[in-house]
Amino acid sequence: SRQVYTFGGGVKHDDPRAKDKVITGGKGANLAEMAEIGLPVPPGFTITTEQCVAYLADGGDFSDALRAEVAQALTHIEAAVGKKFGDPADPLLVSVRSGARVSMPGMMDTVLNLGLNDETVQGLAATSGDERFAWDSYRRFIQMYSDVVLGLDHDVFEEALEIAKEDNGYLNDVELTADDWRKIVGQYAEIVAKELGRPFPQDPAEQMWGAIRAVFDSWDSDRAKVYRRLNDIPGDWGTAVNVQAMVFGNMGDTSATGVAFTRDPATGEKAYYGEWLVNAQGEDVVAGIRTPQYLTKFARERAGAKPLSMEEAMPEAFAELAAVFDLLEKHYRDMQDIEFTVERNKLWMLQTRSGKRTAKAALKMAVDMVEEGLIDEKTAIRRVDPMALDQLLHPTLDPKAPRDILGKGLPASPGAASGAIVLDADTAEKRAELGEAVILVRVETSPEDIHGMHAAKGILTARGGMTSHAAVVARGMGRPCVSGASGLSIDIKTRTLKMGKREFKEGDIITIDGASGDIMAGEVPTIEPELAGDFATLMVWADAHRRMKVRTNAETPADCRMARQFGAEGIGLCRTEHMFFDAGRISAVRQMILAEDEGGRRAALEKLLPEQRADFHEIFTVMAGLPVTIRLLDPPLHEFLPHGDAEFAELSDTIGIGVDTLKRRADELHEMNPMLGHRGCRLGITFPEIYQMQARAIFEAACDVAAASGEAPLPEVMIPLVATKKELAILKKLVDDTAATVFAEKGRTVEYMVGTMIELPRAALMAGEIAEEAVFFSFGTNDLTQTTLGVSRDDAAKFLSPYVEKGIYPRDPFVSLDVEGVGQLVQLGSERGRATRPDLKLGICGEHGGDPASIAFCEKTGLDYVSASPYRVPIARLAAAQAAL
Ligand code: PEP
Ligand code: MG
Repeated sequence: SRQVYTFGGGVKHDDPRAKDKVITGGKGANLAEMAEIGLPVPPGFTITTEQCVAYLADGGDFSDALRAEVAQALTHIEAAVGKKFGDPADPLLVSVRSGARVSMPGMMDTVLNLGLNDETVQGLAATSGDERFAWDSYRRFIQMYSDVVLGLDHDVFEEALEIAKEDNGYLNDVELTADDWRKIVGQYAEIVAKELGRPFPQDPAEQMWGAIRAVFDSWDSDRAKVYRRLNDIPGDWGTAVNVQAMVFGNMGDTSATGVAFTRDPATGEKAYYGEWLVNAQGEDVVAGIRTPQYLTKFARERAGAKPLSMEEAMPEAFAELAAVFDLLEKHYRDMQDIEFTVERNKLWMLQTRSGKRTAKAALKMAVDMVEEGLIDEKTAIRRVDPMALDQLLHPTLDPKAPRDILGKGLPASPGAASGAIVLDADTAEKRAELGEAVILVRVETSPEDIHGMHAAKGILTARGGMTSHAAVVARGMGRPCVSGASGLSIDIKTRTLKMGKREFKEGDIITIDGASGDIMAGEVPTIEPELAGDFATLMVWADAHRRMKVRTNAETPADCRMARQFGAEGIGLCRTEHMFFDAGRISAVRQMILAEDEGGRRAALEKLLPEQRADFHEIFTVMAGLPVTIRLLDPPLHEFLPHGDAEFAELSDTIGIGVDTLKRRADELHEMNPMLGHRGCRLGITFPEIYQMQARAIFEAACDVAAASGEAPLPEVMIPLVATKKELAILKKLVDDTAATVFAEKGRTVEYMVGTMIELPRAALMAGEIAEEAVFFSFGTNDLTQTTLGVSRDDAAKFLSPYVEKGIYPRDPFVSLDVEGVGQLVQLGSERGRATRPDLKLGICGEHGGDPASIAFCEKTGLDYVSASPYRVPIARLAAAQAAL
């Protein structure tokens, strides 16, 4: 097939490849399309991305066939423009630009004014009637070509120019005359000859092939590679090359150049937005050498700026441009990002593409465009990146505020917060009670820090990854969190901390941005989220199009309420252990754990029962009418134990057991590898009275709520870390027996379910058998990832990012499900489970339940619901809708 496609000058291609971004790149495809719908596009041609791939693979030569196609395409431009490439009397000049399948702004190379040499510059001077313009164009070309194609440092040219300006006493480029530019061209030629040992290439054909080569090579430049990695762009796409007749925005005061958006990319406002410069070439707008001016009178007046807008200075060209904006929006049905040039009052379009936008703008534009009839609801749903909603749900840093960045950690839980540094949870709670905003800073957090985390405005840790305790709990609470900030060191003795070279005391103010991971000194002002309006509208549309339900991971009434506001349709995971850390009951929990025998445990559990019952009572009430999945106790018991002499002494006083006995018991509970130790259902098997107490609390609360409100809650009792059917059978019987006892006592029954988490490979493999006992499965993909990969979720931060950088895992598998590996277990578990029990209810409650890519996988796998932390609920609703479209 063809490798070169012409555009402009009246050509129309039947070949769909001409307008296929995969073949001709985004820029080339859109130029061809704009030309075909009758917009003024300078004629040109595009060399396909396929040629780039071939060129880079072959070590860089061009085939005769390609050379012939290019020569042919060049005659198309010559005919359309009426000039010849290299003609000394009236030369055709071209631009050579990159254009990949998706835009990679500024990552690859461009050469302008190509075709100029010592002879053609005279022709340009004569035909343009502007000698200064011709010599200025030539020196720009030498400078750009030398930098991009010949690999010379562009500073040497800038220096020569600065010296020339100083010698003449000029401040600005505009003061240089034709003669000055001619001299500078002479100097530039000398620089090239000296640096390179050969003269600047004079043959236009050689210039063109050099530029094509440079554009192809720039696909593999370091910065392009980095950009691709950051944006998940495959390395084998290649870039197309666009060769196009030059038009000049620098031919005097009737010429101009600019970039524009058809709507405001920051706010989404339906108003033309952009910048332009009179008598300038495109690079001048971007490079910031001159300050660009407003496009519209409205924008200029709103900003209180003086220099005339394009609307005022060039009303006719502007009117034409505005008509083009409207036409392009209608054609592409999206906001467009446009480059244009006016050459002596004639408008030319150089580029159009769908414009990048903020989350807020994406939302507003999607909703507005449906209302305008430009797109349908499904398109609107697809237009908004679910993760971008995160920016909208939390207070965010005021983008205008200055920041003093100290360092960076992982963006563990979004939102921004400022407050005084506090180094332990109790201090956090005390100072917060006095009305102070505090940031809890820890090496890492443990379940004991929950009260401090709750009291804090934000959490910062030196260790721990995206699923570390701090990260999971912070996301659940909606607290901003930056975790694993490796540059942070804490000295608890002096109560100081260091970030790099800077030192801070407890009480000093810092700001963290949980969306970027940035840590800043002092207070940076924030702005509040907006949940009504466009956000609400888009959510209603998303809900109408999704199949999977969206639940939340929550255990406090406040979080449950928050999650309902965000649209949660039930609780997918209530981690009951978090309730054990409450200040009022931790000593009873410790008494239970440290008890020597069952009798001792039962006595302590008696104290905990009413507390747990009250927890569930409140949650059932908040979640009235919705299913609530309650997981029985999961973490290794020693996590609840006291630390340090003071805590042991205090406990000893409270429960009347000697410190030595307590310490011995604590030692006995110590485990080498607690995550694979005495936890999950193993606790229920060995200490059934714990699960019994929890089950009793659940059913008593359910009966009470049903009696009080007339609406029975829908408890789903969930057993964690099951590996075998036997474990589940034993514990299910225990739950059923407890239910029967409570129902008999209360004289009423409520419906309930017993199910299990699938978080061990064995459970997934044995799902067929396990489903005989379970009526629902919830995939605990945090543990399932940990156990399948053999990677500790609490220690992964230290080595996982290099893994991702090297492409060993495409993304952090604790953030985005390892679909290839762990995904197989989810799929297999689902299939085997459903083979046994066709109506088996399937859900996911690992952190992946809030990750859009993982949600897409869940949709494909046929899960019934995903469960995400409260602030992720809207993200999950949108992602589930997108997955279902
Ligand atoms: C899981 O393992 O995926 C899970 C949800 O449980 P937890 O994170 O509490 O271990
Ligand atoms: Mg788990």
